[in-house]
Amino acid sequence: MRVLIVGSGGREHAIAWKLGQSTRVSHIFCAPGNGGIEEVGECVDISEHDIDKLIHFAKEKKIDLTVIGPEVPLLNGICDRFEAEGLKVFGPSKLAARIEGSKRYAKELMHKYQVPTATYQVFTEADEAKEYVLKQGAPIVIKADGLAAGKGVVVAQTSDEALKAIQDIMEKKAFGKAGHEVVIEQFLTGEEVSLMAFVDGKTFIPMVEVQDHKPVYDDNKGPNTGGMGTYSPVPQIKQNLIEEAINTILKPIVEGMNAEGIHYKGVLYAGLMITEEGPKVIEFNARFGDPETQVVLPRLSTDLLEILLAVVNGSLDGVQIEWRDAAAVCVVMTAEGYPASYPTGIPIHSIPVLTKNQIVFHAGTRRNEQDQMVTTGGRVLGVTGIGDTLTHAREKAYCILEQITFKGCHYRKDIAGQAIATKND
Ligand code: ATP
Repeated sequence: MRVLIVGSGGREHAIAWKLGQSTRVSHIFCAPGNGGIEEVGECVDISEHDIDKLIHFAKEKKIDLTVIGPEVPLLNGICDRFEAEGLKVFGPSKLAARIEGSKRYAKELMHKYQVPTATYQVFTEADEAKEYVLKQGAPIVIKADGLAAGKGVVVAQTSDEALKAIQDIMEKKAFGKAGHEVVIEQFLTGEEVSLMAFVDGKTFIPMVEVQDHKPVYDDNKGPNTGGMGTYSPVPQIKQNLIEEAINTILKPIVEGMNAEGIHYKGVLYAGLMITEEGPKVIEFNARFGDPETQVVLPRLSTDLLEILLAVVNGSLDGVQIEWRDAAAVCVVMTAEGYPASYPTGIPIHSIPVLTKNQIVFHAGTRRNEQDQMVTTGGRVLGVTGIGDTLTHAREKAYCILEQITFKGCHYRKDIAGQAIATKND
């Protein structure tokens, strides 16, 4: 089978790496891909936003399955367009992807189907939003309704911070149309965990749980990023709580969408807070997480192609998904200055020879005209280590990271550290 992957990050490299292990995959294309994906497939110079060109390419190259990585093409209706052309595509429709694209819509859906989440109010007028904040007090969470590249959420510790966030989002329009409405939410406390599931329109199969580290510096200091590292399993969260999240969150939301006439196909990602009252939803995403995928797919034993095809064909109920009884830790290496502005084109030195249990997933890289690997983004590489325990997996990741260098590179030294310390894993 000939597969096209759309996107250019570490997530897409992990998908390409896993699909490359399938005996049924004969050729992998990635548009636009990156310097690492080139080693497992053929990168094609088409933007992930150019749906017309992607459709033309898929037809011309007789692609059997297209897998969409990032959220923006999903929200622009890439799957609807591919399907209308009779092309097989993995990902939710534009309507279904709204669960990520509109926080208001996601909250209303959760409310209607009694899915546990933070209490909230939606505002279209800044003055009313400010009044509500002054009444509620802090801490409180302000969220722009639409997509804002992970920057549209402010966890305000004081009322002043919350008022400033409302001003930035609604009055100064820092995120354009995405901030036309805001969702103001109750502040939740607890351990965060992400739970992704394959969904074929009616049946869903959860993946193994994973935890992300969002702040840029150790001890969760500094501004939030797209994700600085992940690990799986998450031993400090008991399995009965994961089961509870499956039953009280994933099940009613998939059934609820069906009741609304929306047959969700693809990966549904639930960002959860395990509160004293049980798991509650922080957000939904309509795709594989990045860098969650870089630890979840290395733990998957089943052929990924088989699962993706079952999702597309609506036959997931006939698939048995197996997971490796192993731990995985991914540490992200970033460019100097990230998540603010950063330089690109910096040469990357000495990416070592890898083993089965040490993988370097590329994110912001490309091979230049001099055949040298250089940086192209803020998150540059994600190194995944796999071992019997989180401690072993972590050692495997860090020993590779110590060998790779580029000017100004940075990575957190404490990925999975707290889980290891608390569980003595
Ligand atoms: P992403 O980049 O993952 O899509 P996003 O911009 O959609 O992120 P959220 O994941 O909704 O933002 O929130 C970002 C972070 O803010 C969460 O990981 C969590 O730490 C914190 N957060 C969000 N909502 C709440 C809440 N109600 N209570 C406490 N913390 C919250």
